[in-house]
Amino acid sequence: MRIAIVGGGLGGLTLARILHRHGIDAVVYEREVTRSARAPGGSLDLHPESGQRALADAGLTERFRSEARPQGEEHRILDPAGRTLVHHRPDPGSFAGRPEIDRGALRDLLLDSLPADAVTWHRRLVAVSPHPAGGFGLTFDGGHRADCDLLIGADGARSVVRSLLTDATPSAISTLVELTIRDADRDHPDVAEMVGPGNLWGMGARQVLSAQRLGDGRIRVGVSLPAVGHPVDTYRRKRALLDLFDDWHPRLTALIHAADGSPAPRTIEAMSTDIRWAHRPGVTLIGDAAHLLPPVGEGANQAMRDAADLAVRLAAAPADPDAAIRAYEEAMFARIRPIAEMSARVHAMMLSPTAADDIVRFFAPRPTGT
Ligand SMILES: Cc1cc2nc3c(=O)[nH]c(=O)nc-3n(C[C@H](O)[C@H](O)[C@H](O)COP(=O)(O)OP(=O)(O)OC[C@H]3O[C@@H](n4cnc5c(N)ncnc54)[C@H](O)[C@@H]3O)c2cc1C
Repeated sequence: MRIAIVGGGLGGLTLARILHRHGIDAVVYEREVTRSARAPGGSLDLHPESGQRALADAGLTERFRSEARPQGEEHRILDPAGRTLVHHRPDPGSFAGRPEIDRGALRDLLLDSLPADAVTWHRRLVAVSPHPAGGFGLTFDGGHRADCDLLIGADGARSVVRSLLTDATPSAISTLVELTIRDADRDHPDVAEMVGPGNLWGMGARQVLSAQRLGDGRIRVGVSLPAVGHPVDTYRRKRALLDLFDDWHPRLTALIHAADGSPAPRTIEAMSTDIRWAHRPGVTLIGDAAHLLPPVGEGANQAMRDAADLAVRLAAAPADPDAAIRAYEEAMFARIRPIAEMSARVHAMMLSPTAADDIVRFFAPRPTGT
């Protein structure tokens, strides 16, 4: 059986790795030109029941632990006056929680675990045509073609494969503006000390100023705003961002002042929480292609969990891949719905007029018995 995985992100690579471990070959078609073409990206916390579980199925727990940063779980939440509302310090050296790992390091770890020819680079899928007797013809940018019996769309938020299964499309939920401080420890030690080894969130009314420490010492700064009223083109210069925070404590706005280079604004999208499609033989979706979630810490974890679940089911039923896909889809729809609803609630709460109070309540220990 010829298996094509479109998209070599965390979902697609995890799927290819676990299939490979079970002796099942698959080809990953990735639009990027080489493995180093992508900007390194931010840091992710991997959850025991999803991302970490998938890495265990991939046989990569030890490699993960050698790259991950349990201390990256430390986080602080401040109000606009610079007062600390929450300061969570994890157990140092413990992998029991949700250790952080740089997205680039995680992707490298997965790529290194695959045979060199498992990923075909520079293949951007542009069209899919079903063959009358089953299977699909794939057409890539530049005219390359391939055929497969089983097609798995792991091609992210703007998936091309998705349209074979559903008309659902993502819609804008917020505007995110990103900046980077290259060497805060050397150039801005006060900022470095305030951010610490993990994450910081400054919670205002309908605006969040966040900072995240990466494994190489860089700090990624983010400004999140509601999509409505904040078109991305407004925020290509620092001055426009600083105007949003003119009544915030200078300790916090120092994050914007300290950043190197120009702000990079983008629209954040999500799909509706009730994603589901009628099963179609020979094709399915995983990760953001299946269920684009608001970015509150679940998307990559669930993409990897999808991959592991699908791979294990395909390996257990090699003679009946469609039964495996059908079972994967039903389990995935049931798992994702509450996660999508929770993610939508948390995302809305972060951008609410009372975000600081709401978030403190969210983190407060609940009385026992309730
Ligand atoms: C700002 C931000 C912060 C986030 N933070 C977190 C976090 O802390 N924790 C977490 O769990 N999740 C987080 N997420 C979500 C997470 O990034 C995604 O859910 C995750 O990357 C999904 O993995 P994927 O493999 O499905 O898709 P992707 O990672 O998007 O990979 C898709 C791959 O497909 C390729 N591709 C796309 N189209 C084509 C095509 N036509 N042909 C061939 N290849 C194609 C792309 O180049 C890419 O390599 C965050 C998201 C954002 C936006």
